[in-house]
Amino acid sequence: MRFTAPFDNSYAALPPQFYTRLDPTPVAAPALLAYNSALAKRLRLPEADDATLAAVFSGQTVPDGAAPLAQLYAGHQFGNFNPQLGDGRAILLGETVGTDGIRRDIQLKGSGPTPYSRMGDGRAWLGPVLREYVISEAMHALGIPTTRALAATLTGEDVIRETVLPGAVLTRVARSHLRVGTFQVFAHRGQRAELAQLTDYAIARHYPDARGPMDLLRAVCAAQAELIAAWMSVGFIHGVMNTDNCTISGETIDYGPCAFLDSYFANQVFSSIDQMGRYAYSNQPRIAVWNMAQLATSLLQQLEDPAAGVEEATEIVHAMPARIETAWRARFGAKLGLSQPSEEDAALISDLLDLMQSAHADFTNTFDALARGPADAPGSTARDQFTDRDAFDAWATRWQARLAQETTPHEMMQAASPRVIPRNHRIEEMIAAAIAGDMAPFERLITALTDPFATTDLDLMRPPTPAQAVPATFCGT
Ligand code: AMP
Ligand code: MG
Repeated sequence: MRFTAPFDNSYAALPPQFYTRLDPTPVAAPALLAYNSALAKRLRLPEADDATLAAVFSGQTVPDGAAPLAQLYAGHQFGNFNPQLGDGRAILLGETVGTDGIRRDIQLKGSGPTPYSRMGDGRAWLGPVLREYVISEAMHALGIPTTRALAATLTGEDVIRETVLPGAVLTRVARSHLRVGTFQVFAHRGQRAELAQLTDYAIARHYPDARGPMDLLRAVCAAQAELIAAWMSVGFIHGVMNTDNCTISGETIDYGPCAFLDSYFANQVFSSIDQMGRYAYSNQPRIAVWNMAQLATSLLQQLEDPAAGVEEATEIVHAMPARIETAWRARFGAKLGLSQPSEEDAALISDLLDLMQSAHADFTNTFDALARGPADAPGSTARDQFTDRDAFDAWATRWQARLAQETTPHEMMQAASPRVIPRNHRIEEMIAAAIAGDMAPFERLITALTDPFATTDLDLMRPPTPAQAVPATFCGT
């Protein structure tokens, strides 16, 4: 069956310095594991049988109208600059303009080697593919800007990591795959014309009101500030906030060793490769600012006299911590039912978090209990999360006094605090089942996480027992 999608490929129309054109590598025996039909509709993709979808979204067949390519980029990885990264295991099939008028990339991840693969095999295995599928869709349902998952296919080939694992391909959908690292590669090489062209492209695609590179910087800083605050508000730890994993669109990208907090601990790190805690939960705002400083540095290189722009760029980057703080306060304020959180309210929020940390309180369940406690005694069940009940009661008294100034705090809280998140142990359980051929846990997670604020599958709210707790996550490439 032919698969004819209304591709409209703007990136492939850029000059060849930006990418390498090549087709995905065919696979042995494509099989469709999961398909996001609602998203497919939005992308204006045609309906097709499973065999056709498996062939297209495993890279077996290139659909009509696609212009497959691997994108070039660079990036700081854990603070060290790598002058050339690029899509080493991903192929951009092309773009469509959706029923909502939004242009999106359709990209295969795990689709075989490219000139940017370096030492890797260009493949992915089932675990990280399903992990990204579930977590990115959960983030979307939480209202957090993110790339999305369109399809997961098995390749019918083995992938060799520490053991032999089933090969898989994820089809990722993004507003674009432009990263801070895309600017860095041309800035580093002194390719000013390409840098200017990339700037124009990014502005046209994401921030059409921006006038020039500094305006673009301002817009990206604003988007990233909102994004980081949103992550913090659901206890999300990205895990690899390298500049190549930091988008210009402000979407979350690259779900490698990411994880959600169970019990609250500000300096939590899950990623096994993050030895220094660079990307710890509480460090994410600082890293976002650091990443924006790298973007600023790169953008400046296109100016006739980069030094002339330094002052403005510095001002923009220096404004970012306050932006994040404001966004953070709004997000956490909403979780406590406070519509216009003041500086004093910020102390109320931090004091709660401190109490949660000493009690190892479950992040999601504490806020859920605060949001959904009986209307006349908010927080009554949240109390169970705390070891020092007197301290919690004293805090709750302050909070209730403050709540008296609000008109609809419970609605606000319930819209700001999800009941379920993709807990690490559930993700691991789901992957183990999928390897054994059982997709029921995957389906269950997708169903519950698609409706995280109102799901009735409350069994998924349960934190891990000590035996179930996942101490570390892996990049899993
Ligand atoms: P990531 O961890 O996805 O941000 O990837 C960092 C860099 O490593 C990118 O250039 C990837 O394309 C490359 N890479 C990651 N995994 C593989 C793989 N299995 N084969 C080839 N390149 C890879
Ligand atoms: Mg990456």
